[in-house]
Amino acid sequence: MTDAGTFCPRCGDPIEGDGADEREGAPGSRQSSGASAGVTRRERALCDACYFEDFEFVDAPERIEVMVCARCGAVHRGNRWVDVGAEDYTDVAIEETTEALAVHVEAEDVDWEVRPEQVDQNTIRMHCLFSGVVRGEVRTEEVVVPVKVSRQTCKRCGRIAGDSFASIVQVRAVGRDPTSEETERAAELAHRIVADMEETGDRNAFVTDVSEAESGIDLKLSTNKIGLKLANKLVEEFGGGFEDHEKLVTEDEDGNEVYRVTYAVRLPEFTPGDVIDLADDDGGPVLVRSVHGNLKGVRVTTGEPYEASYEDGDAPDARKLGELGDATDATVVTVEDDNAVQILDPETYESKTVPCPDYVDADASTVPALKSRAGLHVLPEA
Ligand SMILES: [Zn+2]
Ligand SMILES: [Zn+2]
Repeated sequence: MTDAGTFCPRCGDPIEGDGADEREGAPGSRQSSGASAGVTRRERALCDACYFEDFEFVDAPERIEVMVCARCGAVHRGNRWVDVGAEDYTDVAIEETTEALAVHVEAEDVDWEVRPEQVDQNTIRMHCLFSGVVRGEVRTEEVVVPVKVSRQTCKRCGRIAGDSFASIVQVRAVGRDPTSEETERAAELAHRIVADMEETGDRNAFVTDVSEAESGIDLKLSTNKIGLKLANKLVEEFGGGFEDHEKLVTEDEDGNEVYRVTYAVRLPEFTPGDVIDLADDDGGPVLVRSVHGNLKGVRVTTGEPYEASYEDGDAPDARKLGELGDATDATVVTVEDDNAVQILDPETYESKTVPCPDYVDADASTVPALKSRAGLHVLPEA
């Protein structure tokens, strides 16, 4: 029974070496193997010369074509666009080549390196050098695969370019224009919400457009969900509130009604840092500290806390005198008593006695002072 295994069934040459010994030494395991093992046994029974005659170490396509979105760098795979976060097209080409190449299953200790050669703007020739061990023999093979990059526009970028959106967030403020801090923050939050959704693989989340409106900004967003999240976040950070209005714009392919939702955000009239003069109140101006719920702050005459009533909420009847940032340093002449301090008027340098709020440090040589329609007041250090 030894002669069947010791001659190559194709060329009839005697088989020598480790392979033949294995086959002779373990007849038991051969018998218990199934049909597929039988094929392997036949292949293995070939002598090395016949085996390597048909052997394909590396299976490589003749060329690879990659569709890349010219706007966002997404790569088309299967039937969808995938964000790969590639730095450049060479990275994409390497990645796609790696995916497309296959090494023979019997190869062990496989190693490969690739050298990209830029042929023209859209073609990268990949020189791939493989090495591995087959039947105890080191094999090397070089394959060259041209990778053609075709620049396209992915579905998402096409929708962005087509100005597609499902919600608008209008950022406005009561009785004033939103500050640049507020509008910049709104845009930043929108992009952050989208980035978080993209992290989870959501390709439908995007900011379509951010544009200045007559008094504030408008943000067009790809879904209602992003609009609602943004409106909530803005109110959480800046106070105020929002209303939503939906409008039927169209029906989708399945006949479902598609609504576009407008979130009208109204930021409060006053912001932290504002100094305001309350109507029908003689307690002195108030430096606003918070506008969440009802307006809270400190009296700049005494340093005592102030909180608007529940009915007034974040909008008590008041007029703005200035801001913390408008204050200039005024020299302290003398602290007269707990209630009065003498300072030099920052404009006229005349010494004036003004109310001394309890936040004034008795040893301070200068204090921030705000001169307004309501007079001269000492503010807390910013
Ligand atoms: Zn042979
Ligand atoms: Zn794209």
